[in-house]
Amino acid sequence: MSDNATDDTIFGKIIRREIPADIVYEDDDLIAFRDISPQAPVHVLFVPKTPIATLDALSPDQASLVGRLVHAAAAYARREGLAEDGYRVVMNCNGHGGQTVFQIHLHLLAGAQLGRFGT
Ligand code: 5GP
Repeated sequence: MSDNATDDTIFGKIIRREIPADIVYEDDDLIAFRDISPQAPVHVLFVPKTPIATLDALSPDQASLVGRLVHAAAAYARREGLAEDGYRVVMNCNGHGGQTVFQIHLHLLAGAQLGRFGT
């Protein structure tokens, strides 16, 4: 097994097409696919191809990748007609944040009125 974080996660397998996913966007830097367990009518995950396990591990030179995720999600929402009604983007970090897949990713949630945050 590689020590490459992306290789070691389910998202790495999706990036390498080793397991199927409903991919809605891809470019040289990132991939976006529908969440297997959607928490809203639209639930898409935006994942950088660079392996980064958690936001806590993000280095300064990788910060622009997070901007790319946000921009790709906003562009997708606009293309899909979701922007006017609105949407939410979320990144979970480690246990209390609820992170379960240790390759950083941005959740895009849309298509219904979302609840407020809480525990
Ligand atoms: P986290 O909890 O780490 O922020 O989010 C991980 C997300 O990945 C969860 O919402 C979960 O439903 C989703 N997920 C886990 N395994 C798979 C998979 O094999 N395929 C897809 N499309 N989503 C997955």
